[in-house]
Amino acid sequence: MEGLLIAIDGPAGSGKSSVARAVADKLGFANLNTGAAYRAVALLALREGVDLDDGASLAEVSRRVSLDERGALVDGVLVRESALLRTPEVSAAASTVSARPEVRAVLLEVQREAAREASTQRGAVVEGRDIGTVVLPDAELKIFLSAAPEERARRRAHQTGREAELDRIREAMRKRDRQDSERETSPLKPAPDAVTLDTTSLDLDGVVSRVLELARELREKGA
Ligand code: C5P
Repeated sequence: MEGLLIAIDGPAGSGKSSVARAVADKLGFANLNTGAAYRAVALLALREGVDLDDGASLAEVSRRVSLDERGALVDGVLVRESALLRTPEVSAAASTVSARPEVRAVLLEVQREAAREASTQRGAVVEGRDIGTVVLPDAELKIFLSAAPEERARRRAHQTGREAELDRIREAMRKRDRQDSERETSPLKPAPDAVTLDTTSLDLDGVVSRVLELARELREKGA
């Protein structure tokens, strides 16, 4: 399946990252987590005191970010402390900066370049919010993962070891979902040709098997 591009989109806690990683591992594909690039822009902006409403300055910050299989890079250097990218503050700021068209325009090229690079030899699994709709509209396989909000909040609390903060996580997630779905530029929504999988009552293996099955069917059809 050389060169095959698989787009996986969906809201926070839908299982995107775990599914994308497992599918990429099984197929020997590269795995690109595009959310890391938005998070790196947010981290830089917070660190450098850039106003999160200032599109021009945020675009400048975005030009310092790139992406590869290992994660986000700032000024060409991998952000190794990936936990820094996952704090609640950075998550909220990532959603805010990602609504700026200036940021999306810069990161669009960053993501396409990374996907091109990653898929030349092998295929790539690219996960995000608008991969199937905007970043890689020609991806051969598009998956949209959904799950009930309560289940997504529970998963995120479990993942981060913050079970005691379930209410706060649910609320932050609700806000981020709304922001991501209602923004004018590239809102979170399934591509018309995406296969939507509701993961509420499916375990990771179940979702991964289904995606692998779809990839196999594509290969058999000679895509
Ligand atoms: O996927 P993750 O939760 O790490 O993404 C962080 C934020 O980056 C999301 O809430 C969303 O606002 C933004 N994002 C985006 N488009 C993508 C990937 C992430 O807008 N392709």
